[in-house]
Amino acid sequence: MSVAQSDVLIVGGGLMGAAPQMANLNIIRTWSGIESYLPDSLPIMEPSGTIDRLYYAFGFSGHGFQLGPGVGGVMAELISSGSTSTAIEPFHIRRFATSSLQRSKAS
Ligand SMILES: Cc1cc2nc3c(=O)[nH]c(=O)nc-3n(C[C@H](O)[C@H](O)[C@H](O)COP(=O)(O)OP(=O)(O)OC[C@H]3O[C@@H](n4cnc5c(N)ncnc54)[C@H](O)[C@@H]3O)c2cc1C
Repeated sequence: MSVAQSDVLIVGGGLMGAAPQMANLNIIRTWSGIESYLPDSLPIMEPSGTIDRLYYAFGFSGHGFQLGPGVGGVMAELISSGSTSTAIEPFHIRRFATSSLQRSKAS
């Protein structure tokens, strides 16, 4: 995915304001990627409810670099021992089933 030249100039302008030395850089290549967001901006972390030995850890909503090491530790414990001392229930995908059930009861 390429980045529009106008967007590069906007970001570059801000960068040069913070670090004027960057003005001498010649940008020859840019890259962009897709960030996955969930409705509540929280990730999914849990074993699959349908496929044995499949585990989910995704939907970091733009915070995956920061959360990655902690999430990796929790998932490693979950996968290797079958449980984790970290409360990951708030990150189960069922939270959306509950909230949609509450919405349909309310209407
Ligand atoms: C432009 C941008 C800016 C971001 N900025 C920040 C930031 O400032 N701070 C922050 O915390 N987070 C940021 N993020 C989010 C962060 O990059 C992601 O949340 C994080 O990388 C997710 O890590 P991951 O390991 O779950 O997935 P990924 O990093 O996407 O890794 C998945 C890996 O699986 C590989 N793969 C996919 N399919 C297969 C397959 N079938 N077989 C084998 N391998 C496969 C892919 O090639 C990839 O290497 C940003 C994301 C983007 C796109």
